[in-house]
Amino acid sequence: MALQFYNTATRSKEPFTLPEGVPAVRIYCCGPTVYHFAHIGNLRTYIFEDFLRRTLEYYGFAVNHVVNITDVGHLTSDGDDGDDKMEKGALRTGKTVWEVADYYTQTFMKDWKALNIIEPSIWCKATDHIQQQIQLVKTLEEKGYTYRTSDGIYFDSAKFPRYPDFAHLDVENLQQGSRIEMGEKRSATDFALWKFSPKDQKRAMEWDSPWGIGFPGWHIECSAMAMHHLGETLDIHCGGSDHIRVHHTNEIAQSECATGKPFARFWMHGEFLRMGSDKMSKSAGEFLTVSLLQEKGFNPLDYRLFALTSHYRNYLNFTWEALENARESLKSLHKKTDVLIGKADLIQSELALRFKNEFQEAIGDDLNMPKALGILNSMLKENLEESEKAALVLDFDRVLGLNLGSIREEYAPKQENVDVFKIDALISLRNEARKNKNWAESDRIRDELKSMNITIKDGPNGTEWSL
Ligand code: AMP
Ligand code: ZN
Repeated sequence: MALQFYNTATRSKEPFTLPEGVPAVRIYCCGPTVYHFAHIGNLRTYIFEDFLRRTLEYYGFAVNHVVNITDVGHLTSDGDDGDDKMEKGALRTGKTVWEVADYYTQTFMKDWKALNIIEPSIWCKATDHIQQQIQLVKTLEEKGYTYRTSDGIYFDSAKFPRYPDFAHLDVENLQQGSRIEMGEKRSATDFALWKFSPKDQKRAMEWDSPWGIGFPGWHIECSAMAMHHLGETLDIHCGGSDHIRVHHTNEIAQSECATGKPFARFWMHGEFLRMGSDKMSKSAGEFLTVSLLQEKGFNPLDYRLFALTSHYRNYLNFTWEALENARESLKSLHKKTDVLIGKADLIQSELALRFKNEFQEAIGDDLNMPKALGILNSMLKENLEESEKAALVLDFDRVLGLNLGSIREEYAPKQENVDVFKIDALISLRNEARKNKNWAESDRIRDELKSMNITIKDGPNGTEWSL
């Protein structure tokens, strides 16, 4: 059965096959910048990538799936200035950048688990691959694609005439629009490969390099890590649709200039989750997280089902009502499937095989998950043997990932995603109060922690807390 995906590079659906001799699909997905919690918009993109991976596996491909963790070099502006997102996170929480990165990486991985997203074959951190990034910049420098300004080493986009093609950019217009912010850049589309640390300030994260002490630009990390783990050409590169114009355009430019080879055969992009007319974003302050949905009594898989209800290339509008509908749909699916558990046998009747084929065709047609979900629902209404229904449920759930093979667990709020920074801050306030013999204040803080289900114990090593 033909498998086809929409390729952003050609703006068309193309059949997907692997080149001769490539044993596993080489997929690279741009991962989170770990300066804050992932919001459910980010997670929509990772859920789409999970459907992609599961679909490839359903079609019998082995998959080598790499996801990065951006823990350095992502500035708040695409124009290579503005604050460093990690340092902003450190300022906000009063922790070091390393602690911030570590904490939000942990919470991110918990969200993946809760949403039943399969672990990638490799997680890779930007700070563990500084040498690979330096090496890539050196190659670009040797080949004449870079220039130096007072604040860093930049990629010279004029030397890559195909630069505007991927995102269909109007470079002339861009140039005129950003004359003021360009600084010493020769062109608005040039971007930093390596930034120098400010002379009068020691940065929390900085490394030595052939160009002096500094840190890598954000875009270079993905090219360097993707090539390090998967080779110079990938089969599929994914991300959210916002990455098309700048991040992925830059990845293509620097990778293809360095190697002379196509960087990725397929580019796939997930469209944004919106709330009303706003896109959800970490920098805009208010955003929804998986743990917030859990606090409101939702099972994270309710959100996964919600994500299944729209095609990944369409905007998806979040409302609480829509999430409640998804919860009801998942409950009703479980009502029908829980009774089938343990009854699965061969899928052999003509009707059952037809459902299996239709399902496979739907997911293979550029991940038409809403249609696949419809096929599951129609199948459950049909007059099929329970053993075949049970087998089809298990088979479809390999891709849907809704845990339909196990009894639905009602969500009992767990306190795993508690804000450790807030707890630490409360404990130091309490210690301060105790030092000042302000017992009323110290008791008040203990009660506040108790209301968060946190128990504290004062011992010789200070105050310890547990859930
Ligand atoms: P970030 O952690 O901001 O670098 O984003 C991680 C991933 O989430 C990237 O692939 C983004 O393109 C994607 N993303 C960001 N905001 C949204 C949104 N509102 N809806 C869907 N995907 C998003
Ligand atoms: Zn990336």
